[in-house]
Amino acid sequence: MERVRIILKSGKDQSVRRYHPWIFSGAIKKIYGNPAEGDIVNVFDNKETFLGTGHYQPGSIAVRILSFEEVDPDIDFFRNRIEEALKYRKSIGLVDNPSTNVFRIVHAEGDNLPGLIADYYDGVIVMQMHSVGMYRLRKDIAAIFPELMGMKVKAVFDKSEATIPYMSGVKGVNEFLFGDSGPVIVSENGYKFKVDWNTGQKTGFFIDQRENRRLLGSFSAGRNVLNLFGYTGGFSVYAMKDALLVHTVDSSAQAIELADENIKLNYGDDQRHKSFRVDAFDFLNDIKGIYDLIVVDPPAFAKHNSALANALQGYKRLNIKAIEQVKPGGIIFTFSCSQVVTRENFRKSVFAAAANTGRKVRILYQLSQPADHPVNIYHPESEYLKGLVLYVE
Ligand code: SAH
Repeated sequence: MERVRIILKSGKDQSVRRYHPWIFSGAIKKIYGNPAEGDIVNVFDNKETFLGTGHYQPGSIAVRILSFEEVDPDIDFFRNRIEEALKYRKSIGLVDNPSTNVFRIVHAEGDNLPGLIADYYDGVIVMQMHSVGMYRLRKDIAAIFPELMGMKVKAVFDKSEATIPYMSGVKGVNEFLFGDSGPVIVSENGYKFKVDWNTGQKTGFFIDQRENRRLLGSFSAGRNVLNLFGYTGGFSVYAMKDALLVHTVDSSAQAIELADENIKLNYGDDQRHKSFRVDAFDFLNDIKGIYDLIVVDPPAFAKHNSALANALQGYKRLNIKAIEQVKPGGIIFTFSCSQVVTRENFRKSVFAAAANTGRKVRILYQLSQPADHPVNIYHPESEYLKGLVLYVE
C-alpha cells in the first residue's frame, strides 16, 4: 500500500531539519491519503523534499518522527533502536549492577523511540505506549526484550490503559505480553523498594529521582527530615540512613501504605519514621521550627501549556511555605516534573518564593534526571525533571 504523504507549510520544515521529532497539526499544509491513527506516514517540506517517517496521530502532535532517513520502520528497525538503548545503558553501568536492578530501559524521544517508555524492575519490564503507532506494535516490541536480554527478562507487562491519547479510538489495556509476575522487590543503590505496577502510579516507581535521592541521603545526618509528596517513600528511605526523624506526607492512602512498607523493608519498626495522610499544602501551615531538611516533589502541576501560569503560581505558593517553615540553616530539595515548565521558569518561581519570604537563600545544586532518562539534544522537551537544592540561612 502506498504510504500517506504529509506536506508541511512553507517554513514549518525548519524544526524537522534540526531533528525535532514532533510535527504539530498546525504545520501541515496537505495530507495525500487518509491515514488512520498509528499509521506510518512520510513527511515532506513545501517543495516535497523528504523530511522523515513517523507515526501519525490525530491531535496536536500529528506525527512523531521515527527516522529522518528514508527507511522502512519494520521490526528490525525497532530491534536496532532498543538494542542501542540497551547498549547505552550497559556502557554507563546500569545493566548488571549488583546494587541497582531498577532502571529505565527506553525513554521515548530521549532514545529516539517516541511514544515508548519501558522500565526494568529486576526482570520485569513495564511498558507504556503514548501513541497508537507504538501501541499497535506492542506485541512485537514486548518480544524484543527477552530476545535481547535473555534470562534477565522474566516478564513484560504492557500498562497502556491510561496512556493512549485521549481522543484515540483505540482502548489500551493492561496485560502481560510475555511471562507473568506478581509485585517485585527491587534494589536501588542497595535500598529495597516494593514495586507494584498494577496499583502504582505510572509504571510503578519514580526511577527518575534515583541520583537525587542519593544526594539527599548525604544531607540527612542529624537532621529532622520532611518528605512532602512522598509516594513510595523513596526520599524517606534514603534519609532514614542517619536522620534524627523522617516524616512522609502524601494525600493518597495507598501511597502512605507503600511508603510505610518500604521503610519496614529497610529498617523494620524504626520509630524515627512517621507518615501522614494529609494535603501537603495544609501540612506546611503549622510546622515552624521542626524540620531542617524538606523535600518538595509534587506531581506535574501543568500537563499542557494552557496550565503554565497556574502551575508557576502553584510552585511559588508551595515553595514560599517550605522556605518560610524550614529551620535556620535548613536545606530544601525542591522539584518540578512538569514538561512544560522550563528550568528557567521553575527557577524564577522559586526565586519569587524566596523573595516573598525575605530569607537568605543559596542554591547549592541544580538537579535534573539521571542518565537512563536521557535528553535528546534536538528535543528539549525530553528534559522534564528540574530540581534545586537550597540552603536557607
Ligand atoms: N517523591 C516521589 C514521587 C512523588 S509523585 C518519589 O520520589 O517517588 C507525587 C505524589 O504526590 C503522589 O504520590 C500523590 O499521591 C501525591 N500528592 C498529590 N497531590 C498532593 C497533595 N496536595 N498533598 C499531598 N500529596 C499529594
